[in-house]
Amino acid sequence: MEESLIKKLMASINCGVCGHRYEVDDINVLSHNQDLWFLSAICPDCHTRCLIAAIVKEGRVPEVITDLTEAELDRFRNAGKLTADDVLDMHNFLNNFGGDFSQLFSQK
Ligand SMILES: [Zn+2]
Repeated sequence: MEESLIKKLMASINCGVCGHRYEVDDINVLSHNQDLWFLSAICPDCHTRCLIAAIVKEGRVPEVITDLTEAELDRFRNAGKLTADDVLDMHNFLNNFGGDFSQLFSQK
C-alpha cells in the first residue's frame, strides 16, 4: 500500500486527547512490515503525539450486504457527502424531538 494512502486513511481519525482531526501532514510513517504499519501523529491543535499501529490489508473488496435495490444504491452513491451542518441539523432535531412519530409524519 502506498504511504500517501495510509496517511490519508489515518487522517480520518481524531486526536484521543482533544478530538481534533489529524491532517495528512501531521502523520509520519515510522516503519511498516507488509500489512503492519507504525505511525506517529501530532495533533495540530493540542500538540499531543500519539503512536498508531495499524493492520491494513488491501486487495479485498468488502462484501456489501444490503436490502437496497440497484437503483437506490446508484442514487446514494451519487448523493452528496454529509457535512458538519447536516450532523448539527440532526443533532438539533433529535434534541427537540420528543419521540412522537405519528405527529412527525402527519406534519405537512
Ligand atoms: Zn489534540
